[in-house]
Amino acid sequence: MLAQRANLIRSSGTATARAAAKAAAEAGKEVIDLTAGEIWSNLAPGIRDGAIEAINRGINRYTDTIGVMELREALARKISLDTGQTWKAEEVAVTSGAKQALFNAAMVLLNPGDEVIIPAPYWTTFPAQVLIAGGTPVFVDTRHNGYVPRVADIKAAVTDRTRAIVINTPNNPTGAVYDVPTLLGVADFAVNRNLWIIFDECYGDFVHGHHTHHPITSIIPEVRSRTLIVNGFSKSLALTGWRIGYIAGLKEVINAVNAFQSHTTSNPNVIAQHAVLAHLQCGDGGYQSRLRSQLASARQIGLNVLSSLKRVRVPKAAGGFYFYLDLSHLLQPATGIGGLTTTDDIVDSLLSDAGVAAVSGTTFGDPTGLRLSYGIPPEKLRIGLSRLVEVLNGWE
Ligand code: PLP
Repeated sequence: MLAQRANLIRSSGTATARAAAKAAAEAGKEVIDLTAGEIWSNLAPGIRDGAIEAINRGINRYTDTIGVMELREALARKISLDTGQTWKAEEVAVTSGAKQALFNAAMVLLNPGDEVIIPAPYWTTFPAQVLIAGGTPVFVDTRHNGYVPRVADIKAAVTDRTRAIVINTPNNPTGAVYDVPTLLGVADFAVNRNLWIIFDECYGDFVHGHHTHHPITSIIPEVRSRTLIVNGFSKSLALTGWRIGYIAGLKEVINAVNAFQSHTTSNPNVIAQHAVLAHLQCGDGGYQSRLRSQLASARQIGLNVLSSLKRVRVPKAAGGFYFYLDLSHLLQPATGIGGLTTTDDIVDSLLSDAGVAAVSGTTFGDPTGLRLSYGIPPEKLRIGLSRLVEVLNGWE
C-alpha cells in the first residue's frame, strides 16, 4: 500500500516513549516523565514581547523562504560570536526547528547510496533522515570510549561511498561533550578526504563542570567550507513548540537549501521568527543564564540521587540535560528474575512498577543504555530518580 520509503522508518522512539508515559498517566497512574527532550521553563520575556508586538503590527504574511533578512543577519552575528569567524546572512537559512535544518542538509548533500558516519548511541532522527534521503547510515560505536568517538574508528568506517560525518556535541542521548583533540582529528580527516561534517550543536549552551563546547569551525578554519552548522532555539531558549532552527554553511549549499525548502514547508512561522529576532536584538542573556543555573542545579540534584546506584555507574552528564546510564551490568546474563534482560524490558518495568518513564537505549542504537531527562521540576526529578534507583538496585 505504501511507498518503500515509508517502510524504512518508524516513528521516533522518544515520541513512542513519551506516548507510553502519557497513556499510563491517562489511565490514572501517577507518572514521573523523564523522557522529554525539552526543558520545563517559562517563556523568555523577549520571545513573548517580540511575538505580541509582531501580532499587534499585523505581521501575517509569507516571508522569504529561508527567513526574514533581519533574522538571518542577527543569526550571522550570533554565529560569528560563537565561532570567532565572520559569517554573513547569505550563509544562513532559518528553518522550522533544527530537525528541518538536518533534513535539508541530508536532502541537498546526499546521493542514493552515499554513506553517512554517525557515532552511536545517536539521536534517532539522524539515521532516519539519511535513509529518507536514500543514503546509508554507518555507525561508529563510542561506548568503550566514554561516548566520544575515536578518530581511528571513524577513519576505519570510511569507504569510497562516505559522504558525511554527523557530529553532535554536546550529545543527545549520552551528554558527552567532544574534546578538542577529537574535533581536531575529525575536522582534519574531513578536510583531507573531502567529507562533509554535519555539526549539530543544539545543546551547545549547556555544558557542565570543566567542560567547554567547541564549535568545530573554530578548531580548524579549513573545515568551515566542509561544515554545515545546525542549531536552533528549542533547547537553548526552551522553545520547542515554536519551531525555529537554522543551518549555516557555504552560500552554494544555503542556496540549495532555499530551493529545497521552497518546495517543502516554505518559511518557518513568521511570528516565531519575529519573536526570536526580538530576543536576539534585545535579550541581555539573563534568561539563558537562569536556564543554565536551573539545569546545573537539577543536574546536581540528580547526580546526588544517582550516586546511590549500586551496580550502575553514575553518569558523567557533561552536557545537555540528560543522564545516560550504562545498564550492561544489569543485563548480563538472564537472571531469571522475571526474565528481564533488555533495556526495553527495564523501561516497561520502570513505568509499570515505579511510575517512571524513561527512554530505552535501543532507541539510540544502544541496547545497554537508558536516557533520563532532567529538564523537569526539581521535586519531581528527585522523586522519579529515587524510585528508579530503588528499582535498579533491586535488580540482583
Ligand atoms: N538535534 C538534536 C541532537 C536534538 O536532540 C534535537 C531535538 O531533540 C534536534 C536536533 C531537533 O530540535 P528542534 O527541531 O526542536 O530544533
